[in-house]
Amino acid sequence: MSTADGSVGGTVKIVDHGPNSARYNIVIVGDGYRAAEIGKYHVDVQNFVDTLRGTAPFADLWCGINVHRVDVASTDSGADDPASCGDLSIGSGAAPKTYFDSTYCGGGSVRRLLTCDSASAKNVAQGQVPEVHMTVVIVNSPAYGGSGGDVATFSTHPSATEIALHEMGHAAFGLADEYEYYAGCSSGETDRGNYPGGEPVEPNVTLDASRNTIKWKDTLTSATDTLPTTTNANCAQCDPQANPKPPGYVGAYSGARYYHCGCFRPSYNCRMRALGQPFCAVCRKIIRDTLRPYLPATYQGLWWNAPSGSESGWGINLAHQGDTIFATWFTYDRGGKPWWLSMTAVKTAWNAYSGTFYETHGPAFDAAPFNPALVTKTAVGTGTLTFSDINNGSFAYSVNGANQTKAITRQVFGPLPVCTFGVQQDLTLATNYQDLWWAAPAGAESGWGINFTHQGNTIFGTWFTYHFDGSPLWLSFTANNTGPGVYAGALHLTHGPAFDAVPFLPANVALASVGTATLTFVNGNNASFGYTVTLGAPPVTVNQTKQITRQIFQTPGTVCQ
Ligand SMILES: [Zn+2]
Repeated sequence: MSTADGSVGGTVKIVDHGPNSARYNIVIVGDGYRAAEIGKYHVDVQNFVDTLRGTAPFADLWCGINVHRVDVASTDSGADDPASCGDLSIGSGAAPKTYFDSTYCGGGSVRRLLTCDSASAKNVAQGQVPEVHMTVVIVNSPAYGGSGGDVATFSTHPSATEIALHEMGHAAFGLADEYEYYAGCSSGETDRGNYPGGEPVEPNVTLDASRNTIKWKDTLTSATDTLPTTTNANCAQCDPQANPKPPGYVGAYSGARYYHCGCFRPSYNCRMRALGQPFCAVCRKIIRDTLRPYLPATYQGLWWNAPSGSESGWGINLAHQGDTIFATWFTYDRGGKPWWLSMTAVKTAWNAYSGTFYETHGPAFDAAPFNPALVTKTAVGTGTLTFSDINNGSFAYSVNGANQTKAITRQVFGPLPVCTFGVQQDLTLATNYQDLWWAAPAGAESGWGINFTHQGNTIFGTWFTYHFDGSPLWLSFTANNTGPGVYAGALHLTHGPAFDAVPFLPANVALASVGTATLTFVNGNNASFGYTVTLGAPPVTVNQTKQITRQIFQTPGTVCQ
């Protein structure tokens, strides 16, 4: 019935996005798991973590979160189940000896209220992970139950994860209950009419339904719709009316924080009102705002050999979204011709990413239409990117028999932006264009792309495409701002030492001007890419314009600021 009834084992960081001091730390402890059941505990924890990650908006914010699993063994299995309870339910009377002394009918009134010694749980969490922000207790019992407060407690019942998400809303994000009853709409309770207090401190409930001053003014679906959206015609009961607006609409609905009238909630439904519902837009925004400071800067941008300039002539662009980096390496084949390889690298440690390098062939850059079905790719090796800080790292690869490791650093030609995944939901609002772009609409011409590195008023572009014979071709340009949203510069074709040359001598890189490129940005996610290129023997001049957009492989993408 206490910490004498078990022991604390090891702690494993099961989601690692970097130092605990810089991330949001969730610590999970178990109760009612015997030593022989720790394997089941690990499965239960992983199921919860997978559910959390799959719940909006946590997927977008995942890079800012570390999750720590503390193995706690109890003498006995399960949780206390008192024989009698205030709700007149009948329990088994079981009283297993467990480390955090979890019990159904916590406080004596409702069977499904599953509580534990939360002070002890917090204490263990803090002892294992001093930087803990939120403590979660999983109780090894299949009966439905859970509770909030200082810690989120829930059973292994399949629906109990919903309780955990709701209770996290309270414990971690300061959200209020959005339901309009205490015991229940049909409980016969008579003291739930008009909200009696002053303005609640929680950000998702309010007494003020004026559209000009309401707390969630910035999140309203319409700035001009009449508020409140609903009023309850009979404050003696829960409002029976259906949602007069589309699902997800944000306005001001009467009935919240345990009262039928006088207090308003943002949407018709929300996880803070009913389990099984998604968090409403206002609650999602609050969760985002809380976790945003923990989001790490990404490695997105253009990198080259370190120290800077030592191997000028080749580089590697990184598009970094969530736990994935898409890399395009522009270099030269063993004949000195421009050659590029691409790699989708996945996180293997908090600062390391690995993947397979592919060489691709496809329709010539001037093909109209460009048929993505004709693009072919061949695996040529593997690569690993390991970072020592946000601006420095190493690039190891095994490609076509060459096994090499290069020190790399960001290529700097202006003020370096900071690029963060998940901070901007609406990419059209971005004002820095650094990213991987491709033909619009997305996927229409899958197979070629263009990386922009945007520092100050200059955009360095590398265009990954194919020669007239379908072989890999990359062209580069330095484009300067020439008008609102317009950047223009000369296009270059480059030859140089083979990718595995030792030493790689920048003096042997030869640059030829082959035309011009003009970028015209309509907004942060739409642009046109115009080019005039003269290539081939005999020379052919091509004059084309493509509509382009950012390549998003994990929403909402990364923006640089
Ligand atoms: Zn809500």
